[in-house]
Amino acid sequence: MLTKKEQLYEGKAKKVFSTEDPEKYIVSYKDDATAFNGLKKGTILGKGAINNRVSNFLMRMLETKGIPTHYVEELNPRETVVRKVSIVPLEVIVRNIAAGSLSKRLGLPEGVKMKKTVLEYCYKNDELGDPMVNEYHILAMEFCTKEELDLIAEYSLKINEILSAYLKQCNIELIDFKLEFGKTSDGQIILADEISPETCRFWDSNTNEKLDKDRFRRDLGGVEDAYKEILRRLLGE
Ligand code: UDP
Repeated sequence: MLTKKEQLYEGKAKKVFSTEDPEKYIVSYKDDATAFNGLKKGTILGKGAINNRVSNFLMRMLETKGIPTHYVEELNPRETVVRKVSIVPLEVIVRNIAAGSLSKRLGLPEGVKMKKTVLEYCYKNDELGDPMVNEYHILAMEFCTKEELDLIAEYSLKINEILSAYLKQCNIELIDFKLEFGKTSDGQIILADEISPETCRFWDSNTNEKLDKDRFRRDLGGVEDAYKEILRRLLGE
């Protein structure tokens, strides 16, 4: 079994460690919560373990449906072995229903269904506040190649179909979510980072109750319970 060697990075929600295998890392999920580019800080008890387990569950499911991911093995509730990648510096946002920044930008009330799935790209850069970019910016800045971007878009739309269908069975509406992709040392584009209540908007299909990080962002209360409810509905526990 691989073990943690040196801490390579500590981000807002995770730590990343090297291992005995140069092509594998271990990620360790924290309970620290931040929002609004780090301006709001807090702790969500049990969040790290829930996000780790939900993300691994969804990545394993995506793998069976042909999406390559960084997931290798869950070591314990908080820690997972992943493939080493260099992250493509983009946040890919997939939207089915208007919410959050899209509602503000376009003046669409939250909850309005989009006529077509919307893909957005943001440049991953905290100092700049993750500005939205389009395909021209991405290619001009050489964040990735045209072929890689086309593949990222294709994977993102397929992931949306797979997740939306699965979540519907759990009585959850997938409003929008954020994905990150990475490149392996042999040049393969794979899904990286996490898919969890941290990076998705999940609404109860019947009541529209928010079961995600918006409870923390908007001080709605019941944050821990919402994360636990997602774990229960998805993994059945
Ligand atoms: N999102 C994320 N990380 C970010 C920004 C957004 O995981 O740094 C997710 C967010 O949880 C939501 C979706 O991407 O599911 C769309 O977020 P939006 O652009 O509406 O921004 P927000 O309103 O969250 O600031």
